[in-house]
Amino acid sequence: MRIKEVKGYLLKVPYPEKKAFAAAWEPAPHKDFTFTLVEVTTDEGISGYAGMISRGFEVIAFIKSAVSEFLKRVPIDPFYVEILTRPLRIGSYFGPRVGLVDIALWDIIGKSLGKPVYKLLGAARDYVKAYMSTGQIKKARDHINDFEEARSKYGFKAVKLRFHRMKWEDDLKVLKEFREAFPEIEIMVDANQAWTYFPPYWDRKTALAVAKELEKLDVVWLEEPLPITDLEGYADLRRRTSVRIAGGELEYGLHRIREHLERGCFDVIQPDPCLSGGITEMKKVAALAEAFHVWYVPHGWEPGIGLAACLQLIGTMPDYLCPYLEYPLDPPLTPEVRDAILTEPIEPRGGFVKIPDKPGLGIEIDMNVVKKYMIKEVTEEA
Ligand SMILES: [Mg+2]
Repeated sequence: MRIKEVKGYLLKVPYPEKKAFAAAWEPAPHKDFTFTLVEVTTDEGISGYAGMISRGFEVIAFIKSAVSEFLKRVPIDPFYVEILTRPLRIGSYFGPRVGLVDIALWDIIGKSLGKPVYKLLGAARDYVKAYMSTGQIKKARDHINDFEEARSKYGFKAVKLRFHRMKWEDDLKVLKEFREAFPEIEIMVDANQAWTYFPPYWDRKTALAVAKELEKLDVVWLEEPLPITDLEGYADLRRRTSVRIAGGELEYGLHRIREHLERGCFDVIQPDPCLSGGITEMKKVAALAEAFHVWYVPHGWEPGIGLAACLQLIGTMPDYLCPYLEYPLDPPLTPEVRDAILTEPIEPRGGFVKIPDKPGLGIEIDMNVVKKYMIKEVTEEA
């Protein structure tokens, strides 16, 4: 079997009732959920897919001009994923992140063998506990109502809230109210400080003050409390608090993850297969996490097809290595929007998500829906 072509699409799924999603980490709200879809076709008629939250048309242009051209000149059997490790690493250093190609190849491998990827790689489990990953800053009462509703529908036992108000003391007030409403659930806190490009900007003293407060509220982890450039600050903070420190969701490259772990920055690492080298590279990251005795909980803020890739990876990790799935859910961002192109949405039951077990990534794509939401022209919002 040979790779015939690699194609990329940009999709834009509107939020229902013209609502907007105001991500805590972005300065302006979005009217649409925008993401990149990659399709790899083979000479045997099998297509593999992968997707990630939008990185714009330049990803698609780079795939067309560089990755696809490379694969035409160096014809590769999709089973030989390791041949692509180095070109994809260099490609992602030189241009946009192109690890999606690796994920699409795993989709092809699974489809050609009739097995889900996690079973081909060595399965560890069929279910994972999902935490509801919120993304917006809301009033405490709205967070409480949203979680109550999601819990009654999906059985969540864990949730992540964002800390991104101008004063962290205001974040804390909301968390305290939330904790009072749900004393028994697991709560994570994400400050998104690693790569935030608009205020507030936390320093080491702020991060430590927040961590000390979170200790009292039995928080599972504090995510990205410092800029990703401050590895020394992360290691120092981790030594001074009993709250787990999480990070690395936008990181790319084995060398970076090795450095984080050698310097003792994190209790939980979070590289994302869609943003950081695909499933092949993330299996190596999982081995590093295991060797350093930290958790590896992949970043999951992706379209459903990206979540499916995370799930295939998680299916290969035992619970002691990866205790959770990050499950993005914060109305108007719902499974209907996030998983619009899937024939069935990925949904928890009793707080757990089943690793999708159809061949490949375990899910099926409806190409008619892909066509419906495909953007043909570059627009400002894309
Ligand atoms: Mg995060």
